[in-house]
Amino acid sequence: MQENMLLFQHKMRQILPKSAVVTDPLRRLAWGTDAGFYRLVPETVLFPEKEEEVTEILKSACELGLPLTFRAAGTSLSGQAISDSILVVVAHKWDGYRLIDGGEQIALQPGITGKRVNEVLRALGRRFAPDPASMDSSMIGGIIMNNASGMSCGIHANSDKVLVSARIILADGTLLDTGDPDSRRAFEVSHPHILDGIKQLRAEVLANEELKQRILFKYRIKNVTGLNLLPLVAFEDPFEIMAHLLVGSEGILAFLSEAIMTTEVDMPHKASAMVYLSSIEEACRAVQCLKQGPVAAVELLDRKALKSVEDRAGMPAYLKTLPEGATALLIETKAMEEEVLQRQIEVLNQILEPFDKVEPYAFSANADEYKGWWAIRSGIFPSVGGMRPPGSTCLIEDVAFHMEHLPQATAELQAMIERYGYHDGVIYGHALEGNFHFILNQSFDTPEEVFRYEALMEEVVALVVDKYDGSLKAEHGTGRNMAPYVLREWGGQAFAAMKQIKELFDPKNILNPGVIFNQDPLCHIKYIKPLPLTDPHVDKCIECGFCEINCLTSGFSLSSRQRIVMQREITRLSQSGEDPEGLKELKRLYRYWGDATCAGDGLCATSCPMEINTGQLAHHIREANNPPGSIGWRAGQSVAKHFSGVKSVLRLALTGAGMAHSVIGDSGVRTVGNMIHAFGLPLWTPSLPKSYKKKTKSAPIPDDQSPAVVYFPSCINQTMGIEKKSPYPTPLADKMEGLLHKAGYRVIYPKGMEKMCCGTIWESKGMPDIADCKTAELEAALWEASEDGRFPVLCDQSPCLYRMRQKISSMKLYEPVEFIETFLVNRLRFHTTDTPVAVHTTCTMTKMQLAPMLLKLASRCSTQVLVPQEVGCCGFAGDRGFSYPEMNTYALRKLRPQLEAAQIKTGYSNSRTCEIGLSTNGNIPYVSIVYLVDACTVPM
Ligand SMILES: Cc1cc2nc3c(=O)[nH]c(=O)nc-3n(C[C@H](O)[C@H](O)[C@H](O)COP(=O)(O)OP(=O)(O)OC[C@H]3O[C@@H](n4cnc5c(N)ncnc54)[C@H](O)[C@@H]3O)c2cc1C
Repeated sequence: MQENMLLFQHKMRQILPKSAVVTDPLRRLAWGTDAGFYRLVPETVLFPEKEEEVTEILKSACELGLPLTFRAAGTSLSGQAISDSILVVVAHKWDGYRLIDGGEQIALQPGITGKRVNEVLRALGRRFAPDPASMDSSMIGGIIMNNASGMSCGIHANSDKVLVSARIILADGTLLDTGDPDSRRAFEVSHPHILDGIKQLRAEVLANEELKQRILFKYRIKNVTGLNLLPLVAFEDPFEIMAHLLVGSEGILAFLSEAIMTTEVDMPHKASAMVYLSSIEEACRAVQCLKQGPVAAVELLDRKALKSVEDRAGMPAYLKTLPEGATALLIETKAMEEEVLQRQIEVLNQILEPFDKVEPYAFSANADEYKGWWAIRSGIFPSVGGMRPPGSTCLIEDVAFHMEHLPQATAELQAMIERYGYHDGVIYGHALEGNFHFILNQSFDTPEEVFRYEALMEEVVALVVDKYDGSLKAEHGTGRNMAPYVLREWGGQAFAAMKQIKELFDPKNILNPGVIFNQDPLCHIKYIKPLPLTDPHVDKCIECGFCEINCLTSGFSLSSRQRIVMQREITRLSQSGEDPEGLKELKRLYRYWGDATCAGDGLCATSCPMEINTGQLAHHIREANNPPGSIGWRAGQSVAKHFSGVKSVLRLALTGAGMAHSVIGDSGVRTVGNMIHAFGLPLWTPSLPKSYKKKTKSAPIPDDQSPAVVYFPSCINQTMGIEKKSPYPTPLADKMEGLLHKAGYRVIYPKGMEKMCCGTIWESKGMPDIADCKTAELEAALWEASEDGRFPVLCDQSPCLYRMRQKISSMKLYEPVEFIETFLVNRLRFHTTDTPVAVHTTCTMTKMQLAPMLLKLASRCSTQVLVPQEVGCCGFAGDRGFSYPEMNTYALRKLRPQLEAAQIKTGYSNSRTCEIGLSTNGNIPYVSIVYLVDACTVPM
């Protein structure tokens, strides 16, 4: 490593917290990945939290001449969010926002996701206009810096159009807020040369009619190739020009610390139609006419795109019978009023009338119906990517043509993809803007394949640029991927203007060099990331990063995407024998950063286009580390065999802890707990429950005519009672029994309950065989107790019930929320209180789609139910929260302020261990929802 980098790292350790400076090989490599198909491994990864820290980072990098790249969500596709020098991650800790003028404008930090912005605005009937398909995951910094767009924002409402002002830090560390008069004045004094340079460049452009017209022509359609030149023509004020030059600059001009953007009204009345036309040219001709009509979006799906989804669940049968060449247009129209919407539909029907359609169609304002059509659209990418040959990369290209060329150019593009042998290559995209994506499943592991891609790209450039003067990148950014072609697309004069801008902002070229401008004509086929097969469960991963919003350790240890990246590298090094020492070190580091801190909850699968559950990878790795016969496995086996004895020991420990808690109090428990945890023992917190043992015959049993339920209190609820601060004195299993009796239910307990377990404990530790034996034992007991499945079975812990459902199909199994909503609500009278309560949806409830039911049930009990925002998996992960409480603390970092703001005194959930973590980090007791229902009901 060069001396300057070592010096830089030393300086960074002085100005940033220890955890914010990452130099170990595992995490450097993990952060070397974005969604594109390139890989660069940074020497240093930094996680600043404040502007002052970014200023210091920039000053030091500038002084030492070290290149630096900013990173938001890392979902970029063109190789622009990676670095082999310094990577500065400005994501999770930069997610603030401020509403201005009742939400007409919004000030946004760069790390807030588009999804979150829209959640905030939805309550105000507004939305954020830029709408990339990656909106749920991508962050404002990346959206603005790529000038990302999607189906509806086109060029009329992209970041360039909705940006009001920007707060930026230049390469020399200077802060400028273009919306703040004081900041402008200070900048005029400190940096007159930049302002003069911009004014002069603008004057030159305006004086050069040919260049001015070229700029206006290029931005008549979506274009993100090169730097954004439009501000030079569109604005006069140099500060406005500076702010807008940042849009689409891919981090090569300055750091964006905050942007103020206008928002738009979210029109309430919407209708869509799926129209099938006879050919791609015919569809494009229809688009040319629709462009003049009242449409919000027109998406085109070519025949292969339609074919790619025809076997997916829920797809209409007629997809399979469409003729060759048939092409779909998915059209959306929106209005503020119902009558206006109907008039718009009439206009659109008239426009579509003359075109050759292969199926009847009709506009529908019924969301259930039109969501199915949009599901076809959003299913294309995962379908094509999911079917790709193992080890190949799924490339998404992104070109745009002027409307007048659309039919011809699109047909030629389609023929070209076929000619190059990409037989599964599909074309789809934002036809209304002339913007198409084509997906190629490309392997880069032989020179022939690299050559095939290179040759195709040459021909794409010839078609898009030389023949039709379109855009090589319409929304995904230039990156390294199109850097060799910027000059060819724009011509010398415009290219020179772009270079001048870069020179003005970043004279030392330290900001993301190699992106947009790159002197290597082959940079687009270098540094291609290897994708070796590592585990069938994750081999389809395209490293897009969409999983990360649901990975609780993203930004803390590794994310689910990064775990896959690391396993791929470990496999590659194991197979090649290239660097045995490096391999050993990666494996060592993976133990904590990858394995120990993976909650294994599988929520990552819910936002992964390929539905990959990285938790399964974690279980496989743990299984490989604990093979049958190993010490770990034998210990697991022994616990399984003597489970009731183990529970007795646990009860003793809890009793001891409870007694000590009474003596030393909460703060004593925290101090001692932290001390013993520092020695590697599980964390003891004041939220740890007291010991408990269920006495199954204690409660009065109603008459035998009453309905029956088999109640299996999970092993955790058979062992753990209430926590010291619980507002309810009764342990859950007794409370559940009481509630069932109140509703007139007869409760049957399975025999041998004391030694039973659903198996989750072993499954999460990578011992599936032992886990399955425990489940089988439980199934037999439940089968008998339920009289061969005659009675429903209830388990009081949602994670346990989830596993039981996965493994046991012979009986009807319920967790409390479902059971109460299905069987008890009509047997109980609810009296709703005004006491505010919080509810927490466990991961397994999310996976069983029970979140709305939990909210419904809580709302029967309280008029004020808070579902804390941005709190997903609690991170307790079974018993992992005792050993790695830092995961739990990180996952719940946004909980406590929301509880305090809403003055909530008690939270409710559905999993005892999650509740321990929630109580510890939320600073209020969390208990089962069963308590709330019991408190708010009387018998009918
Ligand atoms: C499956 C898939 C679908 C996609 N669909 C679309 C689509 O429909 N439309 C579209 O436009 N894009 C799409 N993308 C590409 C990408 O998701 C978007 O461009 C997105 O806006 C990038 O945001 P990000 O937060 O991931 O940014 P990153 O990838 O982290 O960064 C993007 C660029 O911004 C720079 N940057 C980030 N933050 C800052 C900052 N604070 N200051 C300075 N520079 C910064 C980075 O250096 C980088 O050059 C898609 C990607 C995938 C994987």
